[in-house]
Amino acid sequence: MTLIDEINRLKREKNAIILAHNYQRPEIQDIADYVGDSIELSRRAMEEKEAKIILFSAVDFMAESAAVLNPDRKVLLPTLGARCPMAQMLTVDQIKRWKVLYPLVPVVLYVNTLASAKAYCDICCTSANAVEIVNSMKAETVLFGPDHNLAEYVSRKTGKTIIPVPERGFCPTHMLFQPEDVRILKMEYPDAIAMVHPECTVEMQNMADFIGSTSQMCRYVRKSDAKTFIVATEEGIIHRLKKENPGKQFILAYEDAVCPNMKLNTLERLYTSLKEEKYVITVPEPVAKRARKALEKMFELKTKA
Ligand code: SF4
Repeated sequence: MTLIDEINRLKREKNAIILAHNYQRPEIQDIADYVGDSIELSRRAMEEKEAKIILFSAVDFMAESAAVLNPDRKVLLPTLGARCPMAQMLTVDQIKRWKVLYPLVPVVLYVNTLASAKAYCDICCTSANAVEIVNSMKAETVLFGPDHNLAEYVSRKTGKTIIPVPERGFCPTHMLFQPEDVRILKMEYPDAIAMVHPECTVEMQNMADFIGSTSQMCRYVRKSDAKTFIVATEEGIIHRLKKENPGKQFILAYEDAVCPNMKLNTLERLYTSLKEEKYVITVPEPVAKRARKALEKMFELKTKA
């Protein structure tokens, strides 16, 4: 029996589903029941009511969101050390301090935050719906975190005053992309469409033909007549884009754009995780209750998460 056979056997025996983020290794995406961005996957987990175990192949905050939204089920993260550095950049103490400084300003937090931080926000957002969420709020000034580049993007799109918390939160992987690389690729592939994730710098966003989350990029490519795409987000998305769009060409804007945290998950670790039912992700109910409220408020707005 191969490792893949073993994983599938355990999956059946334990009534588990495997959810894999768009940035996971190709072999993990290929055995997953669903591949998507963090909120697509959390939604999927909520819909798959029969499954007893949710194996969430991604990083800490994503598995936490699944645990918050599915309190009656066991959520497993294959690698305990798979942590998103951006999510760690915003602590509860920091939010509390900013809330004291701006007591009347609502707090919108990107889903790329820990549940303990989400518990202190008014509503969550994704990179796909951040503009809609902020536009839906009556307030003209909003505290927004932790990604500084996404905050700037939202500010430009909504015309509202966005106060970034912390001041310069960022994704180390998306910061690797440089406008110069895109400029050179555009000379080589003049008909290519440049797709840029809003976690990239503003200079990179200015180079884009399309700015969007990974799920929006997938939708955009499906509908586009273009044949070549320059892609500025983590390299794992290329596997999904190629699989869904045979005949189209995808060029990573920077070939070493790899999130080492996402790549900690391997088939071997998925196997051990399912076999030993580790690592179970739990969130204390008082925190989960508040974080759930912020996530559900986002879902209620029926945005394009
Ligand atoms: S790609 Fe960036 S935001 Fe996503 S998990 Fe990795 S470090 Fe965090």
